[in-house]
Amino acid sequence: MGIVETDAVVLRTIRYGEADAVLSVYTRERGRVSAMAKGLRKPTSRLAGRVQPGVWSQLTLHEGRGDMYALRGAQVVRTHAGLWTDARRLAAAGCVLEAALRVLPEEEGDEDAFGLLVRALGTLAAADDAGLPPHLHPVVLGFGAKLLVLSGLLPHLSACVACGAPPPLGRFSARAGGTLCAACGPGIRFDEPGRALLVTLLGSPLRAIAELRPDSDAALDTERVIGAVLSEHLGVGLRSATPS
Ligand SMILES: [Zn+2]
Repeated sequence: MGIVETDAVVLRTIRYGEADAVLSVYTRERGRVSAMAKGLRKPTSRLAGRVQPGVWSQLTLHEGRGDMYALRGAQVVRTHAGLWTDARRLAAAGCVLEAALRVLPEEEGDEDAFGLLVRALGTLAAADDAGLPPHLHPVVLGFGAKLLVLSGLLPHLSACVACGAPPPLGRFSARAGGTLCAACGPGIRFDEPGRALLVTLLGSPLRAIAELRPDSDAALDTERVIGAVLSEHLGVGLRSATPS
């Protein structure tokens, strides 16, 4: 038990009781944790604005006896102000936060994962509209692709995993571990533009990814493949990935 000072991003806030909230937080020191924020929803709360989902803050957490920490203080490091002035950016940031919530493990600090999360939010805060729905914004897809790498789930993409045939391949199987040719399929559809997009997302920094303008079919295929890998290996389904 004790006090933990850590950089953190709030992933989700759930109302609790009359005026309290339970925060799901991704911390640099401890990975994903839950924290009770007493009185957060009172109009007089000084902390409320500092723990909005998507804001990067330094939190003071008190380690209690159970799984739950208690929020004692918060100082803003970066507001990511650009998210709050643009509904599409905010929606895209929501997809990033949801993916982090579902994929990043509890109580396991990971400097690379924290860095990826704040870079994704910072990039989105200044990103142009990509002409795609928020869940297909290239930064959202890039974040998902890089989560696969962090989770040790990077699929093979350069050849058919069954027979070694070179691209174009056209199919993908999370269970088989990567791309398949038409003869070795079925798997799910994964046409060449989607495969090329995923390879680019894996190999490029987020700032460059923000400039990409993939067509919606390639973006959808890539999203479906990332979702299939997460579902197969982590049992994770991303609600935001469901086309609306
Ligand atoms: Zn094959």
